[in-house]
Amino acid sequence: MSIAVVEIDRKAILHNIDYFRKNFPDKEIVAIVKANAYSHGMLGIAELLCDKVDGFGVARVSEALALRKIGIITPILLLEGFFPHDDIGILIDFNLQTVIHSQWQIDALNDIAMEKQITAWFKLDTGMHRLGFNIDEALSAFNRLACCPVVRKPIHLISHFSSADELTLEQTAKQIQLFEQFIASIEEKTLIGNCSIAASGGILAWPLSHYDAIRPGIALYGVSPFKQPISELKPAMTFKSELITVRQHKKGEAVGYGQIWSSPKDTKLGVVAMGYGDGYPRSIAENTPVLINGRRVPIVGRVSMDMIVVDLGNDGQDQPGDEVIFWGKGLPVEEIATHTGISAYELLTRLTTRAKIHYIN
Ligand SMILES: *Cc1c(COP(=O)(O)O)cnc(C)c1O
Repeated sequence: MSIAVVEIDRKAILHNIDYFRKNFPDKEIVAIVKANAYSHGMLGIAELLCDKVDGFGVARVSEALALRKIGIITPILLLEGFFPHDDIGILIDFNLQTVIHSQWQIDALNDIAMEKQITAWFKLDTGMHRLGFNIDEALSAFNRLACCPVVRKPIHLISHFSSADELTLEQTAKQIQLFEQFIASIEEKTLIGNCSIAASGGILAWPLSHYDAIRPGIALYGVSPFKQPISELKPAMTFKSELITVRQHKKGEAVGYGQIWSSPKDTKLGVVAMGYGDGYPRSIAENTPVLINGRRVPIVGRVSMDMIVVDLGNDGQDQPGDEVIFWGKGLPVEEIATHTGISAYELLTRLTTRAKIHYIN
């Protein structure tokens, strides 16, 4: 039964991968599948892409292990590295690549004696100031890391932009410059593996940031890292449900919790099986649209946990059981981001497990 459904169009994702391959033919692609592939279903996406990308990026060891458990042998990169309480042996046992961003991680690698080696991505903080080595400590840390027997050479270099979605800021150019400066400062060039700094924003807007490996997350799913949709990409997700019932509603009567909206006219209301319990945000602006039978109608009253009311208009012919699209084909999630003040990233990832994922194509 299709109640709140997250429909994922596999062909759209393949189209987006194709787009990256064609436009950036000599780059490795690390497909970012953290947070359940931005609610597209990490395992399903990994199965779809495992022989089409050069690696997967995840944020947690548990995500990496879930991929290995279903037999994915594609390289996997821990974007935040291993954590203080993680057993480093897991990285070896499951062949996980790790970001190295702190001295304590180098200490931990120095302390273990193992035959096998770990692939490391040395993280430079070029301006995000979240994870990574500062430029003044980076070279000595890099050289120390290179001396760890357990660390495979060459070592890859990675950084992350703070503001790649702001096309007019100088910040991104500065970050690229700092990355270059660090690369140039490493004397033993044979120690340098792949360099990577671009996530979706860098990939789409900053050609100088592409280096050897690009790391598309949201763009892979066809959603823009900017405010406007990207016409060359195809959004893969359609978040939808259906009308439970349609009812006649009188002018002046309120709807829902708190009675925050009253109808200015006699109308028909549709009650949809969707709510914040499925991940649709409770905080939306007036006139946030949904798509029903090819037309946009506004959500009225408060979004509740399990239901949303829409104003179908007095001439609406919609019937119980009709499909209601909250975003996806015909209604870009970027537009809902504008209406809710919640970024497309958050709208996608906040979906709950009650909204079931269905793959098509
Ligand atoms: C999440 C993440 C990405 C992907 O970001 P998008 O903007 O979704 O493309 C890339 N690199 C790192 C380090 C990340 O944490």
